[in-house]
Amino acid sequence: MPVANDYYGILGVRRDAGAEEIKRAYRRLARELHPDVNPDPQLQERFKEVTQAYEVLSDPEKRQMYDLGADPYARAGAPGGFGAAGFPFSDLMDAFFGGGAAPRGPRSRARRGRNATIRVDLDLSECAFGTTRDLVVDTAVVCPTCSGEGTAPGTHAVTCDVCNGRGEVSQVTRSFIGQMMTSRPCPGCGGFGTVIRKPCPECDADGRVRTRRTIKVRIPAGVEDGTHIQLAGEGETGPGGGPPGDLFLEIVQRPHSIFERQGDDLHCTVTIPMVAAALGATLQVETLDGPAELDIRPGTQSGQAIPLYGHGTEHLNSSGPGDLIIHVTVETPTKLEPEQEELLRQLAKLRGEESPPGKFAPGQHGFFSRLRDAFNGR
Ligand SMILES: [Zn+2]
Ligand SMILES: [Zn+2]
Repeated sequence: MPVANDYYGILGVRRDAGAEEIKRAYRRLARELHPDVNPDPQLQERFKEVTQAYEVLSDPEKRQMYDLGADPYARAGAPGGFGAAGFPFSDLMDAFFGGGAAPRGPRSRARRGRNATIRVDLDLSECAFGTTRDLVVDTAVVCPTCSGEGTAPGTHAVTCDVCNGRGEVSQVTRSFIGQMMTSRPCPGCGGFGTVIRKPCPECDADGRVRTRRTIKVRIPAGVEDGTHIQLAGEGETGPGGGPPGDLFLEIVQRPHSIFERQGDDLHCTVTIPMVAAALGATLQVETLDGPAELDIRPGTQSGQAIPLYGHGTEHLNSSGPGDLIIHVTVETPTKLEPEQEELLRQLAKLRGEESPPGKFAPGQHGFFSRLRDAFNGR
């Protein structure tokens, strides 16, 4: 008749000791008795007993069996071989107390869905002033047939009978300290602790289906090329009824035929007639938000920049728009009516820059270039 060992006595704990107390007791004894620490043969024998006791009492199932009278290491049985010293003490402590081997339970089928990014092409004015878009998104949503559970209608996942719902199976391996328990994810249920016997026919147990849906999004004023807008929870639904990921909108700003954007400011070029530049004028110009008046002061030079304050783009997440900067190009006429030419000659004469008619061909260095210089004040 095998004789049961007194595991509680060996570890020096009460019969109602909790898991933490048992662990502490074993750790304390192992530090004293481990062969690497103390090579005394008698102590090694005791260390083996202590380890066996811990193996039984630290495993709820084995401990329950033991309490009911069944001892897996009853003395007539063959305890594991104990000669193979060579594992360092620290390895042993890792094996029992951590080294990343945190206790695992069954893992949930529900996992968070993936994030998704979609590209949104916008015109400059949409970027500047904001817009609302209906976006068509290909995504995964909760399966309407099983509501994410993954099971066929009227059925549910059942407890795995390989692991009894624990999600992992334990294995006894022999090592120098006797027998050791190792755990790995249950092959019967993949670690979930439950098994879907009848998968949902619509989603094949995934709990979600692919679909195309349309969402209305508001794009704030001031976004620019490369801005990412995060829409929390608008990404793919997770498997097993898990929460959805996020949807990111990546803004792509289409180039504009007139305006070039630099931050919140816009830049453009306006060509004005020579006379307007010389005498000053008020011109109508197009801005991104409609026509506006541009005051040309007398004597305006080619290349001069005139700001139209507040006609740039809105600033994202704050108040106050940027400006429209108008770069002026003064246009010199290439062809003059006889009457116009006569007036310009009179002007040249007034400024003491008279040239004999016909001596220089138009376009050559001479009269016209000097005229242009005269207007440009050189
Ligand atoms: Zn389904
Ligand atoms: Zn299982």
